Amino acid sequence: MKLIFLDRDGVISIFTPDDYIKKWEEFKFIPKGIDGLKILNDAGYKVIIISNQAGVNKGLFTINDLNEITQKMLEELKKKNINNILKVYYCIHTKEENCECRKPKTGLFKKVEEDFGKIDFSKTYFIGDSDIDIIAGENIGAKTILVLTGKTKSKKEIEKWEIKPDYIFKNLKEAAEFIVKKE
Ligand SMILES: [Mg+2]
Ligand SMILES: [Zn+2]
Repeated sequence: MKLIFLDRDGVISIFTPDDYIKKWEEFKFIPKGIDGLKILNDAGYKVIIISNQAGVNKGLFTINDLNEITQKMLEELKKKNINNILKVYYCIHTKEENCECRKPKTGLFKKVEEDFGKIDFSKTYFIGDSDIDIIAGENIGAKTILVLTGKTKSKKEIEKWEIKPDYIFKNLKEAAEFIVKKE
């Protein structure tokens, strides 16, 4: 199975600094994010989304709000003939709860393996917009891609990161084109 792991906010949907997407009305796709998903879809790649949503346990929105966002997001993508998202995984815990699933920890990836069987992560990519995503990708042994459509805005910011992405692209569309061409 050709599999790609994605972060959500800042990759396929807008990133809101110091805030969360609390309800569907606040959710907005990044156009190049949709383009990227479509390219992966059409090339036969399956996608799994791995996202930290601590706003739930901070009491800013509920699990139901989050589930509604997910459901509507998938519906909107289906309308665009994007049907390759296998599942969306969230960590809803705050940093202070010290759970095993908050990225950069790898608990959600273990859950993926429970659901879908053993995965050779070295053959997959993790695509995100923050240093946390890159560390998470590194922690599972995936190839890492940073996109500049979210938290990280420029290559300059990466200079001080201890763990650097394997690749950097402006957006998910360019990342997807690279993957499809390379593999
Ligand atoms: Mg993000
Ligand atoms: Zn968690």
